[in-house]
Amino acid sequence: MTAVEPVPGSPSQFLVASRTGATRYLVDLAEYSGNGQCGCAHFEFRLRPELERGARPSWRLRCWHIREALLCAAALYLAASRNEESRGG
Ligand SMILES: [Zn+2]
Repeated sequence: MTAVEPVPGSPSQFLVASRTGATRYLVDLAEYSGNGQCGCAHFEFRLRPELERGARPSWRLRCWHIREALLCAAALYLAASRNEESRGG
């Protein structure tokens, strides 16, 4: 099992394995104006309340899982743009 898996048909959603590998969290990168949200306890209890109070998207307000999902999304985007180039687009 890979650490980060895109959710088919839902470009902003990823399943991210916890660092112990025991759990997987659903991350949605589109939530909170692009900050992203996660189902882990750190996000739910520490980060979400700040975003609910109107905090702007910030690297500080992204848990490890959201950051992993962002790296995966960037890799997919770059791979897709490379494919576009090779097709002459
Ligand atoms: Zn998380």
